[in-house]
Amino acid sequence: MLTVEEALALVVQHTCPLAPQVCALARCLGLRLAETIVSDVDSPPYDKSLMDGYAVRSADLATGSAELRVVDEVTAGDVPHRALMPGDAARIMTGAPLPEGADAVVMIEESELLGGDPPRVRLTCPGPVRPEQNILRTGVCMRRGEEVLSPGHLLRPGDVGLLAEVGRDRVQVYPRPHVAVLSTGNELVPAGTKPGPGQIRNSNGPMLLAMAASAGAETRDLGIARDDPEELYRRISQGLESDALVLSGGVSAGKMDLIPQTLERCGVQAIFHKVLLRPGKPLWFGVHPERGTLVFGLPGNPVSSFVCFHLFVRLALLRLAGSEATAPPLRRARLAQAFQQKGDRPTWHPAALSDDGETLTAQPVRWQGSADLRALATAQGLIYFPAGTRAYEAGEEVQVLPFA
Ligand code: AMP
Ligand code: MG
Repeated sequence: MLTVEEALALVVQHTCPLAPQVCALARCLGLRLAETIVSDVDSPPYDKSLMDGYAVRSADLATGSAELRVVDEVTAGDVPHRALMPGDAARIMTGAPLPEGADAVVMIEESELLGGDPPRVRLTCPGPVRPEQNILRTGVCMRRGEEVLSPGHLLRPGDVGLLAEVGRDRVQVYPRPHVAVLSTGNELVPAGTKPGPGQIRNSNGPMLLAMAASAGAETRDLGIARDDPEELYRRISQGLESDALVLSGGVSAGKMDLIPQTLERCGVQAIFHKVLLRPGKPLWFGVHPERGTLVFGLPGNPVSSFVCFHLFVRLALLRLAGSEATAPPLRRARLAQAFQQKGDRPTWHPAALSDDGETLTAQPVRWQGSADLRALATAQGLIYFPAGTRAYEAGEEVQVLPFA
């Protein structure tokens, strides 16, 4: 049986970014850039004031105080009307262009307007006014022609602002993958229905749709399919129109576990079936060779589905969206308490995580195994325990996979 590492390597090998698309600035948050962004402006585009106050010639204020003629007023969006000569000052607002001749700005709090025609102002600063005080010179933040963002960059709100500043109202990005989710099982009824004898509610469908959405995907809900070869064939064929199809149930060794054979009948090529982990051993992964659709057959037990999604599907979706990650983001943590681990397979155990800023601490939660979805309500991650029986001590280092 494949190890998790071997299975991940196969998922990585079969997952490459979707074709880039043009995206409006208002819709690109959370996507990855598929082009290099070059600034078409100097920033700032002109020498600008960082304060409301008076633009001055610093030489006039070598002692820190002076009475100057107010010869101009420059507001943001306006341009200076004249150059400053010795003894001149110009009223200036934050962000407005600096008049020629000025080399500093004195803030309004250090001024007293005296009146007259032209008006005069008394400036009283705590010390000599230094050249460059309270001004920002053209192009110090960014030069025209300079590369400011590279391909693969994940666009956050600040980046959206930067794109706007450099004139990009549309950008090439890797699009959100389209993911279809299909739950399979004769026992399943929708969440809004009271289960009859032998029935249970479909918890995986809504959960997997939520997990796909939180990995940045556009989702399509294919609902519930019965364990019937023809119905499965039809619904899987619909799902293959998406970039990825996530199925739950029907991949174990039971009589009604029809997914692997149906997928192959739909033309999906099996890459692997079964991985050495707990929960989640029956995981199935394949690719449709013509369409390129990635297909994950997750085991039906909800926590198995959840763990397999976190380890494998999420990574694949992030890679479709342009991420170069090759493994889930494991972190080191300290066990909050002693823990007795038993298991023939490497185990991913739900855990409460707390981070005091220095140390990540992981507390295994009470968990009844792969059907116990409730345990996840108090967990923020999964602790990895290698196979075997071993008593762990409080404070021992373990690997964890945080959910977020
Ligand atoms: P299977 O993988 O189809 O053999 O299902 C394994 C277990 O998971 C069975 O107890 C199923 O009833 C349960 N199960 C399967 N699909 C779902 C689902 N969508 N929601 C909740 N439980 C499920
Ligand atoms: Mg089933």
